[in-house]
Amino acid sequence: MTSIFSQAEELFPYTQNLRRDFHRHPELGFQEHRTAEIIVRELSKLEDMVIQDGIAGTGVVGTLKGGKPGRVILLRFDMDALPVEENTGVDYSSENEGLMHACGHDGHLAIGLTTARLLHEGRENLPGTIKFVFQPAEEGLGGAVAMIKEGILSDPVPEVALALHLWNEKPLGWIGITDGPMMSASETFQVEITGKGGHGGKPHESIDPIVAAAGIINVLQSIVSREIPPLDSGVITVSSIHGGEAHNVVPEQVILSGTIRSFTEETRDLLLKRFHEVVEQTSAAYLCRARITIEDISPAVNNDPKIAAVLRQTAGELFPQAVIDQGYRTMASEDMAFMMQEIPGCYCLIGSADSERGLDAKHHQPEFNFDERALTQGVALLVSAVQDLLKD
Ligand SMILES: [Zn+2]
Ligand SMILES: [Zn+2]
Repeated sequence: MTSIFSQAEELFPYTQNLRRDFHRHPELGFQEHRTAEIIVRELSKLEDMVIQDGIAGTGVVGTLKGGKPGRVILLRFDMDALPVEENTGVDYSSENEGLMHACGHDGHLAIGLTTARLLHEGRENLPGTIKFVFQPAEEGLGGAVAMIKEGILSDPVPEVALALHLWNEKPLGWIGITDGPMMSASETFQVEITGKGGHGGKPHESIDPIVAAAGIINVLQSIVSREIPPLDSGVITVSSIHGGEAHNVVPEQVILSGTIRSFTEETRDLLLKRFHEVVEQTSAAYLCRARITIEDISPAVNNDPKIAAVLRQTAGELFPQAVIDQGYRTMASEDMAFMMQEIPGCYCLIGSADSERGLDAKHHQPEFNFDERALTQGVALLVSAVQDLLKD
C-alpha cells in the first residue's frame, strides 16, 4: 500500500459520510441545489480554493493553484440522481420520494471532494493547477454542454481532462482504463408514423400506422445485423411504441422512440443514414408518412492513449493486486465526451460490485448499491494520477 492510498483510507469516514448524505438527498439534473450547497461548503474549507457556483444553474467549479507553475488538469464529477424509487433497504436510503442516486454519482461527488482535500493538503509541491468541475445533469440532460457554454474550458484552459465512474458491471479490484473509444456515442430518436384513422372492422378505408410500425421495427433490426462489420459495434433499440386506444379503431398515428449507439464516426454516420432511409421508405411502402426527430445526446468517450498509459501505470503502482483492463468498452454513454472532444483526457471505470454482499445490482436499478471501498480507490487513483501527470 502506498502512502497516497493510506491517506485516502484515513479519510474514508469523511468520504463515506458525504456519500451517504448525498445518497439520502438525491436531486434530478439541473435541480441539484442542496448538492451544490454541500459542495461549496466543503470546498470553502480549503484555503485558496477559488470557487465559482451557479454555473449552468447548479454547477460548481473549484480551482486550486499548486505551489509551482505547470499544466492545468480538469477533474469532472457528476451530480445528478435519477427518477427511480429506491429499493435497497439501507438506512441511508433516499428521503426524496421517487428519486434515487441509482448510478453512483453520490459516490463520484464524495470522491471529488475527498480528492480536492488531499490535493489541497499537498498543494505546495504541486506543479500546476487543478480545476474540480462538479457538473449537473449528466443523465442525458445536457449538463456538460451547458457548462462548456458557460466557459469552464477557458481561463485557465485545461490541458488534460479526467473523470471516472464507479462500475457495478465489474467487481471491486477491477479497473478499466481503455485506449481510444470506450463509451458509445448516443442519439435518441422519435418517429411519428401517420396514416389515416378509421373503423377497425373496415381496414381498407384507413391507412394503418400500426402495421407500418411493425414493418419498420422489423427492417431496422437488419441494419446492425447485416450492414455493420461483425467486428465493429452498433445498436438501434426501439424502446417505446405508442398508438391506438380502442379495439375497433385504426389509429391515425403511432409514435416510436429509442436510441442509436456507436463507437466510431463512420459507424454513427452509417447508422443514422440507414435509419432515415429505412423509416422513410418503409413508411412509404405502407402508404404512411414518417417524421423523424433525432437528438444528439453525446459523442463517444474517446480516451487519449498517452494519458491512458500514464493512468494505467499509476493504477498498477497503487493497486498491484488489481485487474487493470485496457480493452473494456461499453454501450453506455456519457456526456463527459463533450469535454473530451475539446481536451485530451481519460475516463476510468472503477469496479464497485461485491456479489457476496449483494452489492451487484446494475446501474439505474432500484436495488443499485456499491462497495464503498471503491470510493477510496477512486480517490487514490485521481490524486496519484494528477501528481503523475503534472510531473511529466
Ligand atoms: Zn446513469
Ligand atoms: Zn452515471
